[in-house]
Amino acid sequence: MWYSASITSIDKITNQTWKFVIEPNEKFDFIPGQFIQLKIGETKRSYSIASYDPNNNFFELLIVKLDGGAMTKILFEDISPGEKIEIKGPIGRFTLPENIDRDIFLICTGTGLAPFRSFLHFIDKQNISTKRIFLIFGTRTSNDLLCVDEINTLVNNLKNLKYIPVLSRENWSGKKGYVHDQYLDIINKTDLNNPIFYLCGWRDMIKEARTNLKELGYDSKSIKVEIYG
Ligand SMILES: Cc1cc2nc3c(=O)[nH]c(=O)nc-3n(C[C@H](O)[C@H](O)[C@H](O)COP(=O)(O)OP(=O)(O)OC[C@H]3O[C@@H](n4cnc5c(N)ncnc54)[C@H](O)[C@@H]3O)c2cc1C
Repeated sequence: MWYSASITSIDKITNQTWKFVIEPNEKFDFIPGQFIQLKIGETKRSYSIASYDPNNNFFELLIVKLDGGAMTKILFEDISPGEKIEIKGPIGRFTLPENIDRDIFLICTGTGLAPFRSFLHFIDKQNISTKRIFLIFGTRTSNDLLCVDEINTLVNNLKNLKYIPVLSRENWSGKKGYVHDQYLDIINKTDLNNPIFYLCGWRDMIKEARTNLKELGYDSKSIKVEIYG
């Protein structure tokens, strides 16, 4: 079933990644980590809900523009705030365990951050107790890192959250290379508490991470994936 909604604002996060605020016409509930389908005209695509705010009936999407992409052309070039759209959902099981009694790895690249942003605001706003959370976020350059100030505020609020940004194409004082070295290093050096791994983003990163984790003996139940394409 499709619901009517509008895009109430559009904010540039980086040149290529924008935040779209969606306000459904009816009350809309979701579990952090779920996604919606968005329909404009005849074009339909899936997007993870990137926010959590129980006091408001709107939610945010973080969307990257793809050259030649049909929906992202519409979103980045053809529409403006106030646009009427349709949404279906919420959909998906890429959600947190009911009791967070395990260490959690949140591993993403690019807009794969979206469901993790929802997780972390949920944990913060609802004062959920957690074990360690490792947020490993890979992009090419520091200009591509998303929501840096916001994540730093979450790191201040959530004492068990460790944020590890990693850049593949820029020399900087932080971690360099791909996300894989970062979680492998933590697994190697840390006495972990039955970790659960959430992988989100484009196919290649997820494929490699899943192979690495399976080789280390982690089973499918401990590896949750959301593949964007
Ligand atoms: C469950 C789910 C959640 C998603 N959540 C998000 C989200 O939160 N944010 C977000 O930005 N996207 C998300 N996506 C991806 C999104 O659904 C679209 O696939 C994406 O926006 C591209 O749509 P498009 O119509 O612009 O491109 P299309 O017209 O579908 O494709 C355009 C061209 O780009 C190529 N292409 C498609 N995808 C990629 C890619 N990933 N990398 C390189 N080339 C590619 C295609 O081969 C094609 O040539 C999600 C996908 C799924 C399945």
